[in-house]
Amino acid sequence: MDTSNSYQQISGSADSAFAESNRLLYLEKNILEAVALNKDPQEILDALCQSAEAIVSNSVASVMVYDSDAHAMHVRAAPDIPADVIEQLNGLVPGEGAGSCGTAVHTREPVYVENTLTDPRWESLRDLARDINLCACWSHPIKTRDNEIVGTFAISSFEHRQPNEFQQRLLSIAANITGIVLQREKQEKELWNLAHQDLVTGIPNRIFLNQRLDHAIDGASRSGKRLGVFFIDLDKFKDINDTHGHKAGDQVLIETASRIQDCIRSDDTVARYGGDEFVLLVENLSESYDVGQIANKILSALSKPIYLDGQKLTVTPSIGISLYPDDGESSEVLLSHADTAMYQAKATGRNNYKCYEPALTEAIQHRHQVESELRRALRNDELILHYQPQCFRMNENLVSVEALVRWQHPEKGLVYPDYFIEIAEQTGLIKELGEWIIHKACQQGKLWLDTGLPLGKIAINVSAVQITKGCYNVINDALRKSGLPAHHLEIEITESTMVQQSSEVIEELQLMQNAGISIALDDFGTGYSSLSQLQLLPINKLKIDRTFVSQVPGQLSNEIITRTIIAMGRSLGLSVLAEGVETQEQMDFLLQEGCDAYQGYLYSRPLAVSDLEKKVHPNRRVKPETLN
Ligand code: C2E
Ligand code: CA
Ligand code: CA
Repeated sequence: MDTSNSYQQISGSADSAFAESNRLLYLEKNILEAVALNKDPQEILDALCQSAEAIVSNSVASVMVYDSDAHAMHVRAAPDIPADVIEQLNGLVPGEGAGSCGTAVHTREPVYVENTLTDPRWESLRDLARDINLCACWSHPIKTRDNEIVGTFAISSFEHRQPNEFQQRLLSIAANITGIVLQREKQEKELWNLAHQDLVTGIPNRIFLNQRLDHAIDGASRSGKRLGVFFIDLDKFKDINDTHGHKAGDQVLIETASRIQDCIRSDDTVARYGGDEFVLLVENLSESYDVGQIANKILSALSKPIYLDGQKLTVTPSIGISLYPDDGESSEVLLSHADTAMYQAKATGRNNYKCYEPALTEAIQHRHQVESELRRALRNDELILHYQPQCFRMNENLVSVEALVRWQHPEKGLVYPDYFIEIAEQTGLIKELGEWIIHKACQQGKLWLDTGLPLGKIAINVSAVQITKGCYNVINDALRKSGLPAHHLEIEITESTMVQQSSEVIEELQLMQNAGISIALDDFGTGYSSLSQLQLLPINKLKIDRTFVSQVPGQLSNEIITRTIIAMGRSLGLSVLAEGVETQEQMDFLLQEGCDAYQGYLYSRPLAVSDLEKKVHPNRRVKPETLN
């Protein structure tokens, strides 16, 4: 902006009032144009000062801003005042005797000091005036539209003089324009904050973090320093929103943000990245610095309970960490690898941290792929149930079956549950999958009853993660819709689920048992439950795990375990079934020990519906609608 030259040209013309007005108009027009063009505020203020200096000879102009919180003034623009003088002016406290600018802020009126060496208003800056030979100083306060004082525009002269009317107007116009520039700058800053700040927590948002990370990577690539990217995700945050409401959820986020901030240095950045995800960027990591220290600090800070309206909430995080340049050189890769590590932390029990390892990516990618394929499978009806018969010593005519899920995969063919159940459990998909299985099995059971198949019970495997509040309702719903009587249904839960029993799990199981549904403890013998524990649980049956069955008779310790389980079941009034029976010897041993029932390849593998019907009723013609 070349304003000064234009003024010099104009100031060279006739010195009439008209010409002076013209000069001011020109100054105003020129500067306001620059404001409208959104030029850099610093550039505009510097140009404004220089324009004023061009109009008032033998002078320097300056803009000081007033920070009302700190009650102090700072030089904002003074292109022709030496840096060491600016240094001495910074921090000026407005008041009587605080020079023209300090006084102008104090009195809210223009201050024209003709002689800085004698005027009492220059009391505290007298030495400075003498040092730089500053003789006069005129200062005009800058007010906002709300009449708030935000600074001063001043012209200091190297000769003693008072401003004439024209110069007073110049000061007033310059102060006005400065006010506009500062106001605009403040609004832009507010807008910027609005776009870069998270509204709930007040910390930076994802947009800011992404910019900051790119910037930090640039810096680190030049300095050779390392960066740490921490992906912090709150465990089971959804439960807080669901049970305590969104307001409580917001409070938890605010508290979390503030606790993380307390763990970090001032040049680190923590941002809310999305729902319950935070990203922490740690810059300037030295070669030897252990990022685990930071992670542990955050884990311990967040593990302290949060009290909301007298309620105690505990929220734990899972943290994944990636490092620049070790784990990636772009922000996308670093964030994605930190995210991968975070998932790994969740998969290994939550409330811990994991550093990124390349092998993680493969495992996570596999998981993501199976998860999305499984979603599709549910939509496209690719899942089917096979049924494995169970035989009873006491009633050879009755056949109970265990429903075992299979996936008719369009490319892989028939896929077994080992491939997908665990992933379904980790991702929560098991809920949907489990509901499908329960409904399907109940429908099939009812169909068999209606077609005269001698069905005892139909047993369904239920994962530990499925047994939450409301689980009984889901099962009851399936019974009601299908019309299958409750005493034909059995629920298999693994022993390990029961060992980590919570009152909620027991309550749900009790509801089922009360309704007439039978409860079997699956994989029994592997979960270390004690007799006294078993006594307290709502269960009807023990299923001896096939690892024991496979080694009897012959292997003494397994013989003893098998015998003990059968005796234990007897004494508690529970029925005992052995699974994985493959040989006649195994069956003979079990029957001799008093086992009530067995299941395994010896009698039958799990079968598709039509095959099971053929096996149970060898001469019966299978109706088409019973085919799976
Ligand atoms: P599980 O509940 O212990 O089921 C028994 C598993 O042993 C079945 O494997 C069955 O095919 C197999 N098996 C049966 N008899 C024999 C035998 O004589 N010898 C041998 N070696 N194996 C035998 P499958 O169907 O692959 O199921 C594996 C596991 O997947 C199940 O173990 C169960 O934990 C889970 N699963 C299967 N279906 C479901 C389901 O519908 N829901 C849930 N949540 N889990 C299921
Ligand atoms: Ca089972
Ligand atoms: Ca089992």
